Amino acid sequence: MRISSLLVLLATPFVLTAVPPVLADGLPDLGDTAQLALTPQMERRVGESIMRDIRLHDSTYDDDPEATAYLNVLGNRLVAASQDAHQDFEFFLEKDPTLNAFALPGGYIGVNTGTIVSAQSESELAAVLAHEIAHVTQHHMARMASNQGKLSTAALAAMVLAILARNSQAGSAAAAIGQAGAITAQIGFTREYEREADRIGFKTLQKAGFDVRAMPSFFERLQKAGRLYENNAPAYLRTHPITSERIADAENRIQGVPYKQTPDSLEFQLVRAKLRAGQGDARDTLAQLESDFHDKKYSNETAARYGVAVAMLRAEQPARAAAELAPLLRTTDDPMLVGLQARIKKASGDEKGALAVLQQGLVRYPNNRALNYACIESLQRLGRNREAAALVDEQIKNYPHDMHLYALRAKGYAALGKRLLQHQAQAEVYVLQGSLPAAIEQLQLAQKSGDGDFYQLSSVDARLRDLRQQLVQEKKDKK
Ligand SMILES: [Zn+2]
Repeated sequence: MRISSLLVLLATPFVLTAVPPVLADGLPDLGDTAQLALTPQMERRVGESIMRDIRLHDSTYDDDPEATAYLNVLGNRLVAASQDAHQDFEFFLEKDPTLNAFALPGGYIGVNTGTIVSAQSESELAAVLAHEIAHVTQHHMARMASNQGKLSTAALAAMVLAILARNSQAGSAAAAIGQAGAITAQIGFTREYEREADRIGFKTLQKAGFDVRAMPSFFERLQKAGRLYENNAPAYLRTHPITSERIADAENRIQGVPYKQTPDSLEFQLVRAKLRAGQGDARDTLAQLESDFHDKKYSNETAARYGVAVAMLRAEQPARAAAELAPLLRTTDDPMLVGLQARIKKASGDEKGALAVLQQGLVRYPNNRALNYACIESLQRLGRNREAAALVDEQIKNYPHDMHLYALRAKGYAALGKRLLQHQAQAEVYVLQGSLPAAIEQLQLAQKSGDGDFYQLSSVDARLRDLRQQLVQEKKDKK
């Protein structure tokens, strides 16, 4: 996260001041939220606010729709087996080759791309997610905030940042603001919370049907890596310190659990290969992946070849990428292969060919979000804005909170010269970004556009009234 965005975040007010100290005597009763200074609704608001900041300002935020969709399918499978299957979760990616994962209050879980690339099995990645999910369902952030005694907004935000700190800059930003004091001592969860997240994460992992042996093996590998890094340990080790005790506990837990083979899904293999191909210098990465493929250093040949093709496209060699992908398309039907085929055609200057591939793919995978985005964008590039708009409308029915779809809608209407509809769509982009004043301004522009019919204008008026009310409420809440 850039420093400027940290400052914005610290300046964001919440209704968290003047909360009386709680749990003066002893430790909180883990699992009971009634005594916490921070209600689950407040946690969600803190998390939402940090998340908006990450989406808008964090240059490492990675919105790759294929990898994000995969991560959410895996994460939600674990959530369904967790202590609180009803809490909403959102899993997101950070383009960072180091190994880390972190939980924000309220169910937002960030995973560095490096965590997926270095996971040796899908169960290992699931083990990391299950541990983070447990930090959320056990409300560890709220507990730590409560343990601080007096809870101020800035202190809470600084605490969250300290826990999140991926690098020393973020840590020093918090320190410079002077809120960090006692909090920097708490970078990383306490031993007690780590043990609880391990214990509960283990149950989740087992219930969701993953290989529980992945947990101790992943810890051991991390600890070894940590020794190599010395003072430059992966952020994951700083935020979730791995002790011999944690490894011993994890090993004890797997005793007596019958061995269950858990094959990795093809989606995991493909996503990992794609993220690996996206790391480092394009040409160096391609050379490395080609050499690994040649030496058969892979666990899945299809994914390894797919990774080479992705790296070729990234190194601006679309013709070679097409030749590499061709045999896979004959044997394997998967939306990620379809998506790559379309990107290769587009890079080769064959936009119509790309669109044909996407439209055929959507017949087989009509609800695949990445293919739908790509198809809408391709239609727009070809100037077929009416067809693009129809597809956007259909998708917004399925995903009414998808900011990317509203941005595509606004772009399409701009191309069609429909000003009311363009501003109306742009207003929804701002609503989803959490900026009501900007949304209201767009609706006012929509009112003045002069190109809407009666029904369109009525709908703009109704939405404007609704947003103005929301803004009043928001201002009240902040007082
Ligand atoms: Zn942890």
